[in-house]
Amino acid sequence: MTQEKESLNFIEHIIEDDLQSTHSKSDLCFRFPPEPNGYLHIGHASSICLNFGLGLRYNAPVNLRFDDTNPAKEEQEFVDAIKRDIEWLGYTWATECYASDYFQQLYDWAVDLIKNGKAYVDSQSSEAIALQKGTPTTPGTASPYRNRSIEENLELFRKMKDGEAAEGEHVLRAKIDMSSSNMLMRDPVMYRTLHKHHHRTGTDWKIFPMYDWTHGESDYIEQVSHSFCTLEFLPHRELYDWFLDQVYDPEKLRPKQREFARRNLSHTVVSKRKLARLVEEGIVSGWDDPRMPTISGLRRRGYTADSIKNFAESIGVGKRENLIDVSHLEFNVRDDLNKKADRVMVVLDPVKLIITNYPEGQTEWLEAENNQEDDSAGFRKVPFSRELLIEKEDFKESANKKYFRLTLGKEVRLKNAYIIKGESVVKDAEGNITEIHCTYDPDSKSGSGTEASMRRVKGTLHWVSAEQALPVEVRLYDRLFTDPSPDTHKEKDFLDFINPNSLEVITAYAEPSLKELKVEEKVQFQRLGYFVVDRDSTKSKMVFNRTVPLRDSWAKLA
Ligand code: ATP
Ligand code: MG
Repeated sequence: MTQEKESLNFIEHIIEDDLQSTHSKSDLCFRFPPEPNGYLHIGHASSICLNFGLGLRYNAPVNLRFDDTNPAKEEQEFVDAIKRDIEWLGYTWATECYASDYFQQLYDWAVDLIKNGKAYVDSQSSEAIALQKGTPTTPGTASPYRNRSIEENLELFRKMKDGEAAEGEHVLRAKIDMSSSNMLMRDPVMYRTLHKHHHRTGTDWKIFPMYDWTHGESDYIEQVSHSFCTLEFLPHRELYDWFLDQVYDPEKLRPKQREFARRNLSHTVVSKRKLARLVEEGIVSGWDDPRMPTISGLRRRGYTADSIKNFAESIGVGKRENLIDVSHLEFNVRDDLNKKADRVMVVLDPVKLIITNYPEGQTEWLEAENNQEDDSAGFRKVPFSRELLIEKEDFKESANKKYFRLTLGKEVRLKNAYIIKGESVVKDAEGNITEIHCTYDPDSKSGSGTEASMRRVKGTLHWVSAEQALPVEVRLYDRLFTDPSPDTHKEKDFLDFINPNSLEVITAYAEPSLKELKVEEKVQFQRLGYFVVDRDSTKSKMVFNRTVPLRDSWAKLA
């Protein structure tokens, strides 16, 4: 095995092997096939990165195929959201396709199957059909309608199509093998009657094809070479192949289905159906609530497209399902924003700090570096004055040697500004500290090059000037579920594990430069974490979402 081959994942091996034997490079074609019944989530991101990643690697087309065969649950809103999310991730599909565009072709093929004695109309209830299926170890029982004449089948199927049959009155079934060891081969249903409005075909169709009948044939129509799906479809592969056999023209390319493991993320649920419940029951504000594991929720939370792609890439494709800890996703966004986000100073839980030897009424505009990780990020000005705000938790009247923040009698540096020393406190009647008084060393200005400025002090604190401070709303998010796998408990509903403290809304005080930020712009609140401007921001009040806290303590960095 060459060095290059070793680094390929098993999906790429399948393709490489086919390129050696049956396929040429120009045969390659992939697809991403969402059902438009909800918004895309982080699990879908794995499938998107896999398929579009292969497209880029092999310079092959990737279709976006909406698997829209269930009119009851599908909506245009979801189609639009799915397209927006894939585009935002930075991928471009070759053709926008809809399974519903193939309804006529699928119908014509189904008629051929009936004519060839390979399909029949069953007029039993779905319960009766289920009972006759048997078990994996005992064969099923043939339907009393299994040997209907071709003429009768054609007539009944036409009636179904023309809306002359009631919902549930008949189904069309493939005539395969009622004793197959694969239960899916026991005369699977191909069509059911539904008198519902479809988001694209309206009321044109009264019959709708089932997933198994639709998926492989859609791959074939689009000449998709490799149809990658998740592992639960492994037993469906035999049926996928059987359906293809019925229509396959050897002059054409024959698609193949291959399976990879679903990706699950801890402390959340990755299923559109379950996410829909969170929306419908009002537990979150919508599909793009920043606590949702949807692509649009993560985007609103402040995740970058790169961080999601890097995450998908780093977990790779596998053959076994596993639970990925959400901290791995958080690592990726921190890593990306560390390089991209400008640093700013914001105080979340303020206490007043008065510099008693600083001239009253004076304001200095100090130079502050935007991002030490990025030389091109430049500098900004921050106002400094006699009255500042710092975090309450950055001060203790007295503390041991390991406390690197402000105490009485000790020195710390104010970031981008001066070295100060704690002198005294003012308390209210309950004993709460209302003001901290300190003195500053005028020769210690950051970057001034003086001996005093080079002095080593143990801690560096962020601060804002009280007069120019901009009050902003900050939304502090936490995990939506308290349990790592909320939907795996037999006795309990996943909603029983909702974290009641997943959102805390506070007013914080920001340096004035934040006024210039636009919706979706991301910054690091120094020493606190990464934050993004939310679209709920107005002219009079900005709103920030916390993407993720900073893991590293400032003490180590300073
Ligand atoms: P859901 O239960 O959330 O609706 P699904 O598999 O039914 O998931 P589809 O819209 O049918 O959703 O999925 C589109 C593609 O994304 C499929 O190929 C599917 O296998 C893949 N996919 C869905 N969830 C995951 C996941 N958690 N990990 C990897 N791939 C996934
Ligand atoms: Mg599905």
